[in-house]
Order: sequence, then C-alpha cells, then structure tokens
Amino acid sequence: MIEVKNVTKSFDGFRALDGLNITVPRGAVYGLVGPNGAGKSTVIRHLAGIYRQDAGEVLVDGAPVFDNPAVKSRIAYIPDDIFYYTQATIRDMMRFTRDLYPGFDTDCFEKLGEAFPLNPKRLVRKLSKGQQKQVAFWLALAQRPEIVILDEPVDGLDPVMRRQVWSLLLADVAERGTTVLVSSHNLRELEDVCDHVGIMDHGKMLLERSLSELQDNVVKIQLAFAQETALPADLEILHRSETGRLQQLILRGKPDVLSARLAALDPLFLDVLPLSLEEIFIYELGGAEHEVKDIVL
Ligand code: ADP
Ligand code: MG
Repeated sequence: MIEVKNVTKSFDGFRALDGLNITVPRGAVYGLVGPNGAGKSTVIRHLAGIYRQDAGEVLVDGAPVFDNPAVKSRIAYIPDDIFYYTQATIRDMMRFTRDLYPGFDTDCFEKLGEAFPLNPKRLVRKLSKGQQKQVAFWLALAQRPEIVILDEPVDGLDPVMRRQVWSLLLADVAERGTTVLVSSHNLRELEDVCDHVGIMDHGKMLLERSLSELQDNVVKIQLAFAQETALPADLEILHRSETGRLQQLILRGKPDVLSARLAALDPLFLDVLPLSLEEIFIYELGGAEHEVKDIVL
C-alpha cells in the first residue's frame, strides 16, 4: 500500500505540494488526475525516492521511501522525461536495470521482446520518443515490480502501442497483483483502466474514490411517462434535463433501489445507464463543478 500523508514540498518558496494525501491500496490501478502544474510529477518523484518532502510522510507498506533502497527495489518508475545514457543500447539498458533491481527477470525480458518490435542492439538515443517509451515499459515489466509508477505514460505512444502496453500491464496486474499508480492530465485517458481515481489540483487532493464506490452511489436514469407524473420528493437529483417527454436524471443513491422506485411509477420507458468517470466526478463534486470541469475536460 502506498500512502502520502499530509505532504508539503516547496521550490524556492512556491508550494508545489500543499498538505497532499493519497492512499493507493495494494493491487489497485490508481489514476492520479489533474491539470498541468497540479503537482503530479512532484509527488511521483517523492514516491520514486528522488525528492524528499519538507513535511509529512511518503510510505510504502508503512516504510519511508526516501533513502530506502529496499523499498525502491520493489518499484518500477517510468518518468515523464526518460533519460538514457547516450551510448547505451537497449541490451545495455537491460543489463544496467538488471544490476539495479534484484527482481529483474531476463527470461521475461526476452519474452517481452515479441511485444516490442525493437532490436535490442539499437542505441536508445537514436529511437523515436515513442520507441523510447516502449523501451521504458519493456524494462519496467521485466523488473517484475510490486509497484509500477507511471508519469503521463502514454504521451508519445501511438494508439496501437498504447493498447499494447496497457494490455501487458493489466495482464501483469491480474496475474501478480501489481499495484499501479499512473498520472495523466486527462481523465478520459485513464477511465478504462483505473479502479481508483484521485483528482488533485494546486498540490492538494480534491477527491479520491474507488470506481465501485463511485458507481454505486450515483446513477443516470432515462425515463418517460405517458402523462405528467411527480417524482418522489425525497429523490436526490444532482442533474435533470428533458428532451420532449424523455427525462434524464442523475441521482444520488443505489442504482437498483432507485430504478425499482421509479419503475413503481409505471413509466412508459425506463433505462439505467452507467456514468462515465468524468460525469461522476462532475456531479459528485457538486459545488466545485466548474473547477472540476476545467480539470477533467
Ligand atoms: P504536473 O506534473 O501536475 O503537471 P508538476 O509536479 O510538474 O506538475 O509541477 C507542480 C508545480 O511545481 C509547477 O508549478 C511547477 O512549476 C513547480 N515545480 C515542479 N518542479 C519544480 C522544480 N524542480 N523547481 C521549481 N518548481 C518546480
Ligand atoms: Mg507532470
């Protein structure tokens, strides 16, 4: 489990992290979302053991990350700006990574070669940005890490390779229970892969939820009545829109309970629809709606 507790970090008097809290349960695929400058890369560099916080705690299974090689060896980290030694080939990087990480699995590296159409003899610096990202994924997966931390990982990857790396990563999650923390400035990018999401801005966490928690508490219902019908007064309506007779409601509450209550009013038509993560966040945050819209869209 990853815990960021009340962490602050300033650069020359500027507070990049301002009492930030993050909890990533073991085995979660956690999406860290926020606009440019929110502090995502900064907190991720703390989790990778590169920065030391000014205050608060950065813990993996209760142990501090900074200056702790035992913890760091369990983490694979792909930064947003990948750095490679100028004269290194992919195979050199493999050897280098193998020496640093005791869990590194050479057979796994060879096998993964099928997924990445790159010759290991090539100089990494001569590859395209997207190909370098592929190398980073290749090495990270072969580390057999307990925790994978990815900072804006799909930037620069084409759609086919995007799907390829996600499917490899999610297969690893399913097989070995790997914990993944991935940042993006785009909630949509993470929607299909994450089961936990935290939205941060200005160095703070605005909202942190699991997908099941979210989907169990808000529901979108479309319905139409033959004649005007009053809805129960106690419904908690977060949003309502009408197109002709068809009403669309976003309601807070349990999906099955709400649909049963509305079905009892004998509508001509009733349909329960899943909300996208983006919609859930917008309606869940209610008052902060505009703020979040700006962030997620
Ligand atoms: P994000 O990854 O969410 O886009 P960052 O964590 O990179 O945001 O940056 C958060 C804020 O901290 C930004 O305003 C950025 O300018 C500032 N910042 C980050 N790293 C440094 C640094 N090394 N020195 C000075 N300011 C920094
Ligand atoms: Mg960043």
